[in-house]
Amino acid sequence: MRSRWSDADAERVVAENAGVPRDVALRTYSARLLGADQALVLHGGGNTSVKGRAKTLLGEEIDVLFIKGSGWDLATIEPPGHPAVRLAPLLRLRALASMTDEEMVNELRLSLLQASAPTPSVETLLHAYLPAKFIDHTHADAILAVSDQPDGEAICRVIFGDALIWVPYVMPGFALAKRCADAVERTSRGTVMVLERHGLFTWGESAKESYERTIDAVSRAERFIAEKRRPHSTAASSITAPFPKIDDVLPRLRGALAKLSGLASERAPIVALDDSEAALAFARRDDAHALVETGCITPDHVIRTKPTALYVRAPRYDDPAALSAQLEAEIAEYARRYDAYFADSCARRGVTKKKLAPWPVVFVLPELGVCATGRTIEEARIASEIYAHTMATMSAAADIGTYAPVDRLDLFDVEYWSLEQAKLKPAAEAPLSGRVAFVTGAASGIGRATASRFLALGAHVFAIDRDADALVTATREMKSKRVAHATCDVTDDVEVGRAMEQAVRAFGGVDVVVSNAGNAPEGLLHTERGEAALRESLDLNLLAHNNVARAAANVMLAQGRGGALLFNASKSAFNQGPGFGPYAVAKAGLVALTRQYAVDLGARGIRANAINADRIRTALFGGGVLESRAAARGLGADEYFRANLLHREVTANDVADAFAYLATAPSTTGCVVTVDGGNAAAFPR
Ligand code: ZN
Repeated sequence: MRSRWSDADAERVVAENAGVPRDVALRTYSARLLGADQALVLHGGGNTSVKGRAKTLLGEEIDVLFIKGSGWDLATIEPPGHPAVRLAPLLRLRALASMTDEEMVNELRLSLLQASAPTPSVETLLHAYLPAKFIDHTHADAILAVSDQPDGEAICRVIFGDALIWVPYVMPGFALAKRCADAVERTSRGTVMVLERHGLFTWGESAKESYERTIDAVSRAERFIAEKRRPHSTAASSITAPFPKIDDVLPRLRGALAKLSGLASERAPIVALDDSEAALAFARRDDAHALVETGCITPDHVIRTKPTALYVRAPRYDDPAALSAQLEAEIAEYARRYDAYFADSCARRGVTKKKLAPWPVVFVLPELGVCATGRTIEEARIASEIYAHTMATMSAAADIGTYAPVDRLDLFDVEYWSLEQAKLKPAAEAPLSGRVAFVTGAASGIGRATASRFLALGAHVFAIDRDADALVTATREMKSKRVAHATCDVTDDVEVGRAMEQAVRAFGGVDVVVSNAGNAPEGLLHTERGEAALRESLDLNLLAHNNVARAAANVMLAQGRGGALLFNASKSAFNQGPGFGPYAVAKAGLVALTRQYAVDLGARGIRANAINADRIRTALFGGGVLESRAAARGLGADEYFRANLLHREVTANDVADAFAYLATAPSTTGCVVTVDGGNAAAFPR
């Protein structure tokens, strides 16, 4: 592992933070260096500190510890991420024989200089008791690979010699702080403190010294692993043909999980897929299943990935229905084992706890990859990244010896530890959370307004459009991690199929379709020009909708969770304008198509509804269409937009709101909603 330290960068962070003590600015800089390397810490893991002096309101100079506050991530930490706590009262606490976690957190909060600062790390007392200025704590992959071993201490002794301070496993908190402090006081030469099956501590007089000791220790462990590693054997693949298809497997996984965990229909967890070469190679190891069952590489990860992932043996990729049944059976079995682990651990610890969800979060699917799930793609990606490091570390540990992480009871203590639970934000159930929407024509007009509205309501949105540049700009401006996109011409069914697969790859499936892309061709049907326009219009304004609906319906049927097919029809379907036949005929067909899907797929829970909007100022009216349509009705442009019963101009946002309603209307199908300001001649009938 290479040191990322740069004196110039360090000085730049100091300069950028004028008014912040120099040591705190340097602490911020080197904490970010640790956070920048996922092989050191992941997603809020690890913690850092520096000791210094601060002035109280009364002008008194006191010793303080600047320690990472909970809720901060080392990769993006800012100076307020290391709030100051008074050192003296924390040092006095060491005399106590024991302290509960709640008492400890209370003491930490009482010691803060700023009452509004975030709660100091649960490892604050450990940092306080070590007699060093800068302290760095990580859960480095290589350190875990050598310490998650039955003889971890002996291995670490070989690697680090006299520099090693070995601390047998104990859960983070007051007891671990005392144990570490005692161990450090017993040695004079130790600079590398390895916490058995947990992680690494290093320290130094400067930020650079402490950071580089971490890098050096990890590098030494990495070299040891590289030298000792024996090649592992690969299981003969149980999968021959056909090769698993992502758009077939992920929706089934999502559906099985949603069904068993009792989610409402049309909602399911979001899936992040890791089908990297490393993930596929791991799943092919002959010991992959056993390693997966052994559990987390460090206790900190249990709240993100559960104690174990679910390894699906010999998945039935050859038979989709059998695959769904297999996934359901395996998930149910996982939950039964989780329940047993929970009951057994509560009994052995003599405690009563509220059981967390028993469902697996991470799935290892041979020849397909690793699927991590979450309420949002962000949550799923966190679990996915943690598991990528879990697989690499378990493999390294097994290749140099025997992978032996903390046992299940110790994991239980951390999984059900109130202080770890605090890291997980409570679920805020937004109207469209747990739903993936596939929106066509999303780069502008109604499509763009709908994509934005859906994101605001908590949906994940897969946006497609023919215009690549406009699509990139539009989705960037939506500023959400829940949006992904692909360029696609909806009149090409192959491109639509590919875009649907990309949506499944991005989020795991599709629950709502907003089939919106269209244009507004004019022409008299008895003329040659009108006939040509009609054919072109049928292609885009009717058949392309079926390309999208068909591809989406197949994903929805694989999920088995129902779904919503929403179409942007037009009031022209019921009330044709003069010379607008090519548009009106196709849109009338689209309303019929909507109703047909409602009839054909209602029994499978798939709803189909359309919106008849009229006269929305969008690109549809470009190229002279507006002037022409207004003239056809004998109106000026502005008058044209307000010529309705309410005398009100209808906007793209009004249409987006109607789509959002239809996406969440479980009892509504085969319906046409008008969003046109009122037009008696176009009332649905
Ligand atoms: Zn830790």
